[in-house]
Amino acid sequence: MASSERTVAFLGAGSTMGLAMARNLARAGFEICAWNRTPEKALPLKDDGATVALTPADAAANGALIVTMLRDAEAVIETMEGEEGALAGAQPGAVWIQMSTIGIEGTERCAQLADQAGLVFVDAPVSGTKQPAEKGELVVLASGPEEARPRCQPVFDVVGAQTHWLGAAGSGTRMKLVVNGWLTALVEGLAETIGFAEGIGVDPAQFLEVIRGGPVDTGYAQLKGKAMIERNFEPSFKLELAAKDARLLTEAAQRHSLELPLFELVRDRLAAAAEEHGDEDLSAAFLATAARQPTAG
Ligand code: NAP
Repeated sequence: MASSERTVAFLGAGSTMGLAMARNLARAGFEICAWNRTPEKALPLKDDGATVALTPADAAANGALIVTMLRDAEAVIETMEGEEGALAGAQPGAVWIQMSTIGIEGTERCAQLADQAGLVFVDAPVSGTKQPAEKGELVVLASGPEEARPRCQPVFDVVGAQTHWLGAAGSGTRMKLVVNGWLTALVEGLAETIGFAEGIGVDPAQFLEVIRGGPVDTGYAQLKGKAMIERNFEPSFKLELAAKDARLLTEAAQRHSLELPLFELVRDRLAAAAEEHGDEDLSAAFLATAARQPTAG
């Protein structure tokens, strides 16, 4: 790998995912120039040898690779476009690795922007939350042109424990939507299961013990179930972002004329819960269930 391939413009040092990912890359010897809308959040990266730029354009100026890890499609496009946007500073031929969760339409818009600017576009959202991000154990759902893969893989090897190359750009995002369909439905089902157990006088902690290690158990049920029982909603995946993801997947379903009433219900339930608890963890979806029960008043 040419040394220039180790220069990365990292756009989005959010406290949940981006900061940890950029830090791991800096510690692994990548030359990181980071940018964050709220600059103070990126400053701790300096301790690991990264530089912090004032604009996305400045960050992108020396990056052979540009990573975006931002809230949604609007945030990504705002960061890339305009006079101070990353596209204005990017080197022709740089690889734009888009790792935020932005849905099919957002990904298509980004691919088009990359094409117009002469960048190579790689769509690579991730599965895994704050702790896997900190440990470099995310699952990378990568997609894009064959020739870009060796350029991106060293980054994925640092931020992730697994990379799945899934096809042409857009395939990673499609898989991400499928994974999120599964996990958001699981969390809503779990919230009602815990609420149901509490409501009929069953200890929900014993329920988790009963399923533990069996065919109907999942690590996620144990993790989020414990959070619901303890009412500990410290965010590792913010509820408002889960609500955004549930919306993205129903938009994808509509685009393909698929009728998926459970996913629509999950989207609406998460959106309603996010109105009050958006900055808490996804497991706070439980509070919307609990609020409906007579004992909760
Ligand atoms: P987060 O901690 O809230 O970080 C969000 C980031 O987006 C911050 O850097 C924030 O900047 C930036 N941002 C928001 N709006 C912006 C705008 N209009 N312009 C520029 N920057 C903007 O959230 P996160 O969990 O790291 O999520 C980042 C992405 O990863 C999302 O697409 C999310 O769906 C995805 N994801 C999250 C998880 C998870 O478990 N948390 C897992 C997989 C994928 P400020 O610091 O200035 O607010």
